Amino acid sequence: MFEALSDKLSGVFDRLRGRGTLGEADVAEALREVRLALLDADVALPVVRDFIARVRERAVGAEVLESVTPGQQIVKIVNDALVEQLGGAGAVPVNLNAAAPIPILMVGLQGSGKTTTAGKLGLRIQTRERRRVLLASLDTQRPAAQLQLQQLGERAGVTSLPIVAGQTPVEIARRALDTARREVFDVVILDTAGRLSIDAALMDEVRAIRDVAAPAETLLVVDAMTGQDAVNTARAFNEALGVTGIVLTRMDGDARGGAALSMRAVTGAPIKLAGTGEKLEALEDFHPERVAGRILGLGDVVGLVEKASETLDEQEAERIAARIAKGKFDLEDYAAQLRQISKMGSLSSILGMLPGAGKLKAQIDDSKLDTAILKRQAAIIGSMTRAERRAPDIIKASRKKRIAAGSGTSVQDVNRLLKQFDDMSTMMKRMNKLGQKGLMRHGLA
Ligand code: GDP
Repeated sequence: MFEALSDKLSGVFDRLRGRGTLGEADVAEALREVRLALLDADVALPVVRDFIARVRERAVGAEVLESVTPGQQIVKIVNDALVEQLGGAGAVPVNLNAAAPIPILMVGLQGSGKTTTAGKLGLRIQTRERRRVLLASLDTQRPAAQLQLQQLGERAGVTSLPIVAGQTPVEIARRALDTARREVFDVVILDTAGRLSIDAALMDEVRAIRDVAAPAETLLVVDAMTGQDAVNTARAFNEALGVTGIVLTRMDGDARGGAALSMRAVTGAPIKLAGTGEKLEALEDFHPERVAGRILGLGDVVGLVEKASETLDEQEAERIAARIAKGKFDLEDYAAQLRQISKMGSLSSILGMLPGAGKLKAQIDDSKLDTAILKRQAAIIGSMTRAERRAPDIIKASRKKRIAAGSGTSVQDVNRLLKQFDDMSTMMKRMNKLGQKGLMRHGLA
């Protein structure tokens, strides 16, 4: 997620961070680079201008804190501005505080991931909130759309409204709400038809549905990969309908960040959820502070732990997070993490959450990001002695040979693993050090 932007910004800040003093010229130069990075990431121009102006004002007026270097202070100011840009601290939950059945309207362009998100959201509300969900497709445009949602529902174990041929979207909406009342569903998710582009007919149809359904939430689903187009779509839907929340899909891809960073400013509506894959479970709360942390290359250890604890042994995830925080991460933890990763799904989505993982990820050929690598790495660590796993520094040439032979790999493979582990612990240490110097205390974490 946002790799290019993240790489650029962390480059700017890597240079600044170490500085004990920071002149006006340094700040101006850094801001120029930040500006270019944001424009490259397809952030809307007025948003970029506003962002830079805000950062400059704060950087100039900033009280010099004793506990941090001026470079760190700038990182903190940019981080705070990014968090604001993304919508402010804390995830904004989907509103379920209404009388049942609570209607949730899903709107967006065709192909944005709307139907998939409807299914994901249904599953999520049912499992996390323990509320009964009814899915209904009002998409009479595409013949297969209603069937698609029904099949998604079956896979997710969420009930969907029986398909009746020949009804209009408004009629289906009424039938969905009636059914929900009669059969005591708590939430009704209404998936509307999309078009390839915004047109008056689409907006009229959605408005008519909205007037009948009186939704507690109108969630706009937009593809994060579409950058400026996503922003234009959001503006149009918001003006026509009044959107209450945004779901950014394909955040697992290499979206440049423009959509995420412009959305709040353009629509005023918070990004509530992020789609992170094709699987039904791949829907996450959108935490601006964590996303900002990831953009700045500070990692998202909380997100990592959360993801881990959802899928796996919670205690184990907490133990690892605590060791990361204490700077005690060793190869045994790494091996434990590898085991978890293979259970958790996409390796790149996990790597994206680790501090400095952009660089780490670049070292791994994406096409080889498969379980074979995980297995090989696990085998290498498995062939080490306990002492070696705890203190990898003692692994010199002869030990490497033994480990390679024991795991059926080459010394090169062992070196690669050690290098990766080393990079990872350096990043973690750096992040922890920043924390101790007070940056975290000032709200960066
Ligand atoms: P709709 O036309 O807006 O209803 O779009 P669909 O729900 O049919 O989704 C279009 C395609 O995008 C499908 O192949 C989905 O699996 C895929 N998709 C949806 N959300 C995500 C996401 O968050 N990440 C990825 N990688 N694919 C997604």
